[in-house]
Amino acid sequence: MTPAVALAVIFAGAGLIVGISRYLKWAVEEIKKNSVSDPVGVGAPLEPHSSPHEIHGLRVLLQHDPSFDPERFLSRATVAYSKISDCAARRDFAVVGTFMSDGQAEARRIGLMLEDIDGVRWDTDNIELAAPQIRWVESDRLFDAIYVAFRGRCRKRRLEAATDRVVSESPMGDFAEIWTFVRRPGRESHQRPGLIEGCCPNCGAPVQMADAGRCASCKSWINSGEYDWVLTNTARTVDPDGWLPSEDWRRHRGLALLGQADPEANLHFLIDRAQIAFWRWRLANAQGDPGALRAVASETFFVKAGPSLVKSRPAAVRLDEVRFEAFETESGFDRVNFWARCGYDGTTQLTLVRKVGAQTSARAGLCSIRCVNCGAPPTRWDLAACEYCNTPFNDGSQHWVLDAVERLGA
Ligand SMILES: [Zn+2]
Ligand SMILES: [Zn+2]
Repeated sequence: MTPAVALAVIFAGAGLIVGISRYLKWAVEEIKKNSVSDPVGVGAPLEPHSSPHEIHGLRVLLQHDPSFDPERFLSRATVAYSKISDCAARRDFAVVGTFMSDGQAEARRIGLMLEDIDGVRWDTDNIELAAPQIRWVESDRLFDAIYVAFRGRCRKRRLEAATDRVVSESPMGDFAEIWTFVRRPGRESHQRPGLIEGCCPNCGAPVQMADAGRCASCKSWINSGEYDWVLTNTARTVDPDGWLPSEDWRRHRGLALLGQADPEANLHFLIDRAQIAFWRWRLANAQGDPGALRAVASETFFVKAGPSLVKSRPAAVRLDEVRFEAFETESGFDRVNFWARCGYDGTTQLTLVRKVGAQTSARAGLCSIRCVNCGAPPTRWDLAACEYCNTPFNDGSQHWVLDAVERLGA
């Protein structure tokens, strides 16, 4: 998308947002008037007491962040959308890595690598974006999450990478996506520019992404969710109006059990880590080389997977959903299963393991690929331990590591 088109999208989005502003203002005032205090459950989502006229969960968010303004949030989300579309066209996501979780940034980085290996480029153009809507708000002790529905029309083109020749082109068609933005509770919204606007939300300095997610000025891990909303997922949906989060697995008994042993364990971090494992596995397959798995897979799996990898043409894969499936403890290791669902490519089961007694770091936030001990991002993918403090990445003593992959089919 050219800057001019990006601006047009922003203004079109902003105009449409104004259209729903009266409703939102009314809804927020109503919620503030009728506000009641909710008990804070340990590991359990806070009950929002929503009525059919309210956005589910907004009441709870407004209780701990009375300055939250849904209109301003949606206009920031539209800017995020526009910036990411622009980066996709330029094939460089470094600028938007500031407001993405590690898993999201990794998904986009590896997506580009897979296109390079395959010799193709996917291009989206003529994007006509309708006004986004907040579909759902969810709060628990560790994170607030806002699910935003984006819908619009666009055209997809497949280009030959070497020549930019258009190989195939779809007609203009509808699309709908649910984007998840996550932030630690305890932060109040303000009017200052933040991560989406390219500024450190902690110290206000313009962010330079020299150190992959660390503010050069105040050294804070800016994409941890500690200071500002961070994008953790962009899932396609066919029914944005009827979309609801899948409550059954969010309230999984296994998650409660895990939370009892590890009070900082949370779904957003776990899913982000599983996303990284999924994309590294994809890359290892496309490269026919297990190197990309070194830092995120157990030694057993790394050794076992190596010989079985056959360089294969990467399918045009987009990860639609990662869901938590099971938690169990076995032979000194905690094991979590996830199902990674891809629209065209079926479901893959990922098993991640961690030594019993290991704890999720409270300061990790959504930084799911960094060294748990010193916070440094690995500079190479084939490192089995942190190059600064020697903390092992792949023995399960600190991080969840990939231990098995099984294709479950469509
Ligand atoms: Zn800063
Ligand atoms: Zn380290």
